[in-house]
Amino acid sequence: MKKLLALLALLLLLLPGCGKTEEPRDAFLDTFLLTDMKVDGIDTPALFNPAKGTTTPICSDPLCSHTKKDGCPFAGYHSLQELHYYGGAVWFQSAEGGKLMDSDIMRYDLDTGRVTKLTSLPELREMVPDSIPIENGQSYGFFEGCFVYRVPRADHTIAFQLRVSLDDGKIEVLDHDFIIPFAQYKKKSLSYTPELSYTGVSFGIEVREGDHRETILSEKRIAICFTDLLESGKLIYVDSPKREDGSYDFDRMAVHVYDMESGEDRLIIDDFPSAYIALIGDFIYYSRYVEDPPSLGYDKNMGKEQFNLSGGILFRTSIETGEESVAFELPAYTLIQTEIHRIGQYVVIEYRNTDYSHWEEEATPYGVWYAYEKENGRVVYDTASGETKAYPEASQ
Ligand SMILES: [Zn+2]
Repeated sequence: MKKLLALLALLLLLLPGCGKTEEPRDAFLDTFLLTDMKVDGIDTPALFNPAKGTTTPICSDPLCSHTKKDGCPFAGYHSLQELHYYGGAVWFQSAEGGKLMDSDIMRYDLDTGRVTKLTSLPELREMVPDSIPIENGQSYGFFEGCFVYRVPRADHTIAFQLRVSLDDGKIEVLDHDFIIPFAQYKKKSLSYTPELSYTGVSFGIEVREGDHRETILSEKRIAICFTDLLESGKLIYVDSPKREDGSYDFDRMAVHVYDMESGEDRLIIDDFPSAYIALIGDFIYYSRYVEDPPSLGYDKNMGKEQFNLSGGILFRTSIETGEESVAFELPAYTLIQTEIHRIGQYVVIEYRNTDYSHWEEEATPYGVWYAYEKENGRVVYDTASGETKAYPEASQ
């Protein structure tokens, strides 16, 4: 018991510092989508503004080729594929060879345009005991102003965990089963349970208040929580429903709203297509497979007709009534269900269209390959006006 108390004390000590979850949502996150774009064929981090439909590279040097040789501060970022916004800056990890533990944590100041190095990960590496191999499988997460690095054992449990505060670069070794809260509700901090780290799901949500610790929704196999409505006491979560025989149905998802005050748990969507939603106002927005998908044409490479499985439809369901309706229907757009974002009042969803009526024949050692005309881009839905606009990505 004493040990447990000591552990709790440690966890509580660790709690401040990071996790400034009580701050209001930053205006940046309601204005821009952090993304990338091709400039002269090279991926460059960029900002997409859904209100204007513009994409601007963060590296604004027109002569920059965005390579390390050219001195581009963003060179190498893409190998790690992550950009994060925090406190007026864009954070990323830069690594020549794309190895996480050999990379540097970089800060790009959005006001001054200056890029500075916060710390080098090899410094972190030195903190990992020799007995723990870190060559493979290490991962990291971004939580409210901290990067958290995890080094797993062969059985995928966590062997070692540490975090870097983006405020001051301070590095701390965390207890191996410590999980940083993903949200704060009044004096309660909410975190996923440790199972999430190695199974990708959380059995319930751990709620801590002072030294009191409890698990809510412990019977639920939770894939993800959405905290946009937490201020009003509503926690939206997606889970795999439990069958009558007690097993979980991994092929299905359901959306619920949990009331933090009364503990009431209400099902909103029974048969949900994926874990990805955008939450704006009292509506959940998403795309899913439709029953009679429109044809896109005949795919000579695959030897079959292709369909727009999303139907080009953005659905929405009211959290209050559970009623589903169509926000927009654009059958010519093949929506990507996993690429949906909320930026302020806008739902931004990516599309990838293939025009099967236009191709170029390419000779390959295996025969002719039909290179179809393709277009990527984003559809922006303004939830205030109901207007929809599509912005194709500049093709390079
Ligand atoms: Zn550049």
